[in-house]
Amino acid sequence: MTFLRTGQEYRESLRDGREVWYGGKRVEDVTTHPAMRAGIDFQARMYDAQHDPATRDVLTYVRPDGERAATAWLVPRTREDLLLKLAESEYRCWQSFGAFHSRQPNHVAWVIIGQLAYESVFRTHAPEWADNLARYVEHAQRNNLATAASIIEPQGTKARTAKAGDDRSAVMRVVSRDSGGVVIRGAKAVGTAAPMSNDVQIGSIYYPHVRPDEAFWCCIPLNTPGIRVYCREAVAPAAGFRDHPLASIGEELDCLVVYDDVYVPNDRIWALDAPATCDPALFGTTGGGEFWIHLSRSVVKAELMVGLAQLVADTLETGSIPAVQDHINEITQWALILRGGLGAALDRAALTPDGVLLPHIPTINAFRAYGLDHYPRMNQLLQQMCGQGLVTRLTEADLAVPQIRADYEQYHQTGQSSVDDKNLLMNLVFDVTSSAYAGRSEIFDNVNGLPAGLLRSLLYYISDRSPHVEKVRGLIGLGVDGPGTGATSATEAWHTGGRTQG
Ligand SMILES: Cc1cc2nc3c(=O)[nH]c(=O)nc-3n(C[C@H](O)[C@H](O)[C@H](O)COP(=O)(O)OP(=O)(O)OC[C@H]3O[C@@H](n4cnc5c(N)ncnc54)[C@H](O)[C@@H]3O)c2cc1C
Repeated sequence: MTFLRTGQEYRESLRDGREVWYGGKRVEDVTTHPAMRAGIDFQARMYDAQHDPATRDVLTYVRPDGERAATAWLVPRTREDLLLKLAESEYRCWQSFGAFHSRQPNHVAWVIIGQLAYESVFRTHAPEWADNLARYVEHAQRNNLATAASIIEPQGTKARTAKAGDDRSAVMRVVSRDSGGVVIRGAKAVGTAAPMSNDVQIGSIYYPHVRPDEAFWCCIPLNTPGIRVYCREAVAPAAGFRDHPLASIGEELDCLVVYDDVYVPNDRIWALDAPATCDPALFGTTGGGEFWIHLSRSVVKAELMVGLAQLVADTLETGSIPAVQDHINEITQWALILRGGLGAALDRAALTPDGVLLPHIPTINAFRAYGLDHYPRMNQLLQQMCGQGLVTRLTEADLAVPQIRADYEQYHQTGQSSVDDKNLLMNLVFDVTSSAYAGRSEIFDNVNGLPAGLLRSLLYYISDRSPHVEKVRGLIGLGVDGPGTGATSATEAWHTGGRTQG
């Protein structure tokens, strides 16, 4: 048996009457809209790959009851589970040329699985609702769902819980209730990939400012009446593979999501009137898997850049120049360190009190901050290595003209590569380093995934430095026998051979 679905079934699931707006017009069908079609087709190929014998055992797993389900929704309890989820993430990242589809279904699945990892906290603060968390994960496994998340408040003062004062008219909240569910009203700033998702998770992380009727977690279908999705302008021009390899696989649009008196049935709610479940510190704790996936995206992006750098050097025959080798070495060092961080966070993974294995968050934060700190330089090095190559690219239409092709072959052919291959390589490097698509991806990594400075500042609170402090104390005998005794520590005695300084 299987809980899987085909790409075509996934496409059909998005033709559900949802209210999506693009460029001031209501979108009739997201699967055929020029700004959305290619991204949805990419995700459909990913669903098809779940059936392909070559990728099936990475993208899917067999549940204890014998049903095959998507790895995205696997709740990890062992190291092998985490390794499978990592392999799945890396596959998804490579298929999108180094993680440029950053909000694939495995991402928000991790947000929800992370909450399940701390189910007992939800049970403490929302005892009537917490069972629905596991039920939702089961539902998502059975239906192989693509789920978006909308958690962050819009920037308008009235919509910000901390600033709204007593005017809660724009704050996301429950406005009425009946025995079957609640009605919510408000908006969430960004729901990435909402047009190409089945469901959307709604929640808040504004404790202590959030009030009880503003404090809930739930997940509902995107075609629920009253949901309006406003898409940003697309950054991926409609293009063929050889002209813009990255843009040709479409994109995930970021969207403002408005909830205009939306009915949420009881069984889709796993916290209500529960401000403590909106504590950002809790979100930081439940986020272990999600943050690890962010790091795995950084690793694949870095390794893509290593591959591109070497190919550029080979194509332009610059690989013997020491300065060029230095550039490749710098990008390689960056990628190797990031890869090491992924493994280190895995080695320090720990079971939560509710039996889910989550990678080590302080390690993830440290490496993600390192990755972000160095990204602009690596991008610049790769651009630099291409020289004129990034601005002497041609389209397939150009190369179809015999005279243009002949001139290009005459003046641009290198010893190591055909003009078609050189052009394709430079088109990809342009897409991933210099296009609007690359810019949006950098914003995603740096803002949605949190900026390096913020990741580092969190370390102060979440990294346990006490073992190191104790080690140093022991090493020099700080506080031995209490303050001011002048007692000699064992280490001091070892180093001085028992002599005391006079
Ligand atoms: C491409 C993209 C995709 C996104 N996708 C989603 C999504 O799918 N779902 C979702 O819920 N959200 C999403 N977001 C929202 C994202 O999580 C927030 O933008 C991010 O958390 C920053 O919050 P903000 O935009 O409200 O920043 P603001 O509060 O408006 O602050 C603006 C900037 O000021 C600085 N700043 C503010 N407060 C602090 C502080 N305490 N410490 C340090 N610096 C601070 C930061 O530089 C911050 O970026 C997305 C954002 C982007 C850019």
